[in-house]
Amino acid sequence: MDLAGKTAVVTGSTSGIGLGIAEGLAARGAAVALNSFSDTDDDHDLAAKITALGGGRAAYIQADMADAQACRHLVDRAAEVFGSVDILVNNAGIQHVAAIDDFPTAKWDAILAINLSSAFHTTAAALPWMRKGGWGRVINIASAHGLRASPYKSAYVAAKHGVIGMTKVAALETAEEPITCNAICPGYVLTPLVEAQIPDTMAQYDVDRETALRDIILDRQPSKDFATTQQLAGVVAFLCSSAADQMTGTTLSVDGGWTAR
Ligand code: NAD
Repeated sequence: MDLAGKTAVVTGSTSGIGLGIAEGLAARGAAVALNSFSDTDDDHDLAAKITALGGGRAAYIQADMADAQACRHLVDRAAEVFGSVDILVNNAGIQHVAAIDDFPTAKWDAILAINLSSAFHTTAAALPWMRKGGWGRVINIASAHGLRASPYKSAYVAAKHGVIGMTKVAALETAEEPITCNAICPGYVLTPLVEAQIPDTMAQYDVDRETALRDIILDRQPSKDFATTQQLAGVVAFLCSSAADQMTGTTLSVDGGWTAR
């Protein structure tokens, strides 16, 4: 297990991509802090289930990524529990779809806070731990929407472009240290975040689920297939390997050709 002895924090990891990445890191031996804003038995059970799989240990730490102090507390609490923070995966994210002139201010603020500012706060808190440990990986889950725009996704597109900008700055500030900072840009991955968009798409275009998926949601993804959470976990593992020691400040697209257009 190549990540044995390393500690990872994955924000927003009770579902979808974050959960897949947390499982992948634990399977490779890392101790993993799972996170979301809730604090239910299911959240803690999830950590116990991952630990029971026999890789690295997992613990659940409640923290609302909309709250700056909570973001910093998450990292420090993970260091308290596991002794260090070597890998930070900024994954928590939400979506809201509306035209700019109808976009609720509260949604704009929440998306910017959770999808962008949280990554700033967790990175600020994690870098001192990485320096102390002499090794670090900051991996930001951006999106194809960090490189391209779509109508009705103003806050999401702005936040994801911002995450890529911040990734580059963090990479430059750590360039002479054994710390790297990169962004992964998935196209569509079939998670609860995307599932939630299917009924509206079916209703809006008056089509069945299969047509909504293939012809509308995957319209921009030339492979016409979804990326999987396991594939993203594999890319995270690659970025944690020594093969990626000289990769920093860059983006890795996992988008079935979306951004090749
Ligand atoms: P998801 O809805 O399945 O999971 C999001 C996770 O974030 C959940 O665990 C949720 O509890 C957590 N979360 C939400 N608000 C939070 C908050 N305030 N504090 C802490 N945790 C919070 O979503 P997903 O599809 O797995 O998306 C994960 C990330 O990947 C997001 O940043 C998203 O923008 C990005 N992404 C997703 C896709 C896709 O097609 N699914 C594509 C590109 C990028």
